Parts: sequence; structure tokens; C-alpha cells
Amino acid sequence: VQTLNLVVIITIVQILRYLIIAGLTYLVIFKWWRNRFEKYSIQNLSIKKEQIIHELKHSLITSIIFGFIFMVLVHPLLNHYSKIYLEFKNYPIWWNILTIPFLIIINDTYFYWMHRFIHWKKIYRFTHQTHHFSTNPTPLAAYSFHPIEAVLEAIWIFPVIFLIPIQKYLLITYVTISFINNVRGHASINLVPEERRKNLILKWINTSTHHNHHHKYFNYNFGLYFLFWDKLCGTEKKYE
Ligand SMILES: [Zn+2]
Ligand SMILES: [Zn+2]
Repeated sequence: VQTLNLVVIITIVQILRYLIIAGLTYLVIFKWWRNRFEKYSIQNLSIKKEQIIHELKHSLITSIIFGFIFMVLVHPLLNHYSKIYLEFKNYPIWWNILTIPFLIIINDTYFYWMHRFIHWKKIYRFTHQTHHFSTNPTPLAAYSFHPIEAVLEAIWIFPVIFLIPIQKYLLITYVTISFINNVRGHASINLVPEERRKNLILKWINTSTHHNHHHKYFNYNFGLYFLFWDKLCGTEKKYE
């Protein structure tokens, strides 16, 4: 019963976080301040109702799947065997500081290759097609995955928690950072001027334009946070 309660609580938190962060971003850009954002839009801000319903529906299903996955992740029974720790003071301060950057790099690498894999023709229809239903995504597409893709998006963390010590609240914080990054990727607007993108740091960042172009052109920009793998493997789409 306690385990089931944990699933319900985590699922509710996921849905609320989705509705607040992705929902508000959607409303601000596509509804309330649409006139202000129109000039920054990557494709356009006219989205069919059918797409909004699709994005909402699949994001809610993913929230429930993540409810189960994260329950396992933070369950006391698993924590007994994993390297997840509770007290910050158990590890040096530099390790606590570096945990999140470290998770970002691992997740970015895993995501790039997993993403290329689910674009493979033989499995695409049963895994990734759901996400690509949106050719001009909105922030509501942040969790719009097929259930199999939802599982693939999350499972990389399991080997990691057995190999590397991670403080429990840093792990929870990371999940939220990664969600915010998903919303950003699907924002559908570009606020970074062309000349700034050539900047030493920005040229390595996977922007909203990159991910929007992934939805539009399909075969480019597979990255999550960075362009490192896309540049290395020649899958980066140059800006028009
Ligand atoms: Zn894709
Ligand atoms: Zn996407």
C-alpha cells in the first residue's frame, strides 16, 4: 500500500509540474502574449486543436509511467542497494556540486544515441512516431512520448545510481531541470539573435530552434542539451 501511495504522489507531482511549467509556458506564448511572441516564432504559432489534445494526452500517460519509474528510483528498498545517499555531508562538497553537471552530460550522451536508435525505421512506428506527431511542437509536447519511449527516456538512470553516489534531493532536482529543458526545447520561439549563436558557449547549446527543426526536418539535431554529438556525427542542421 505504501508503494502504491508513493506512485500516486509522484504521479500527481509530475502532472502538476507539467501543468504549471509546460501549461503556463504554452498559455503565455500561444495565447496570452501571442502578439508579442509572434515575431520570435520559429515556424508559426497556429496549432491545430488535434495536436494540443495529442500532446496533452501522451504527456499525461508519460507522467503516470514516470510515476512508477521514479517510485522504484526513490523506493527505500532499492536505495538500500543503490548508491543514493541522504546526507550531503557524506560526500565532499565538490562532488555535491558536480553531480548535476555530471548527470546532464551522461543524459545528453545517452539521449543522443537512444534518439538515433528510435529513429530507426524498423522500430520508429512503435516508439518515436508519437512524439513526431507534432511537426511544429508546443511546450505541451515536453512529455508527449509513446509508453515505450517514456521508459527508454528514463532507464539510463538505473545503472547510474548503482555506480555513482548521488544525493537524493539532487536527483529529484535533476529530474525537474531535465523537464524544464524539455519545455525549453519545445518552446517554438527563438529569443537568441543570429549573431549571438556563434558565441563560444552558445554554439554548443541545443537551442529551441535546433529541436524545433528536429521536429520539422526529422533527420537532424538529435541532441538534448548540447550539440556536441550532432557536430561530431554530422547531424547538426545549420540555421537557415
Ligand atoms: Zn526524434
Ligand atoms: Zn521533441
